[in-house]
Amino acid sequence: MLEKKLEDALNAQINAELWSAYLYLSMSLHFEHEGRNGIANWFKIQFQEEQAHALALMDYLNARDCKVVLKPIAEVPGSWDSPLAAFKATLEHEKTVTASINALYAMAEEVKDFATRQKLNTFVAEQVEEEETVRQIIDDLSLIGDDGTGLLQLDRELGARIYTAPQL
Ligand code: MG
Repeated sequence: MLEKKLEDALNAQINAELWSAYLYLSMSLHFEHEGRNGIANWFKIQFQEEQAHALALMDYLNARDCKVVLKPIAEVPGSWDSPLAAFKATLEHEKTVTASINALYAMAEEVKDFATRQKLNTFVAEQVEEEETVRQIIDDLSLIGDDGTGLLQLDRELGARIYTAPQL
């Protein structure tokens, strides 16, 4: 069992990961509709990754003999002005996720739950990777600007992304 406040916070994080999944699914559908299939593919994989984050936390709560509580997932935006706007929104969102993972880590330390702290290590590392990847795409998009050839090439690159389950 876990300290109640840590259990509640982990359940809240599960909801946040599912919200992230829903957000990226929405982005994927938006860009597919816009004919940007590579970008749509990239966000669809992001959607799968977020589901894996949520499932890993559910497995962990179960392993600790806690109850997973599924709450409603809040509405997500449905359209973005440009790929750059969507990736900027993604980076801002991932920064808030990083902050909540850090807060969970601090809580695990505070209540001396070393197993939870260890579990969260992989999430801390995952967030560094998420932010770095998105920052690079923002840099690329900023450089490309309105250049059609550059945009097409980036779309193809993002279209080549293949889902590999995160090691959590
Ligand atoms: Mg996540």
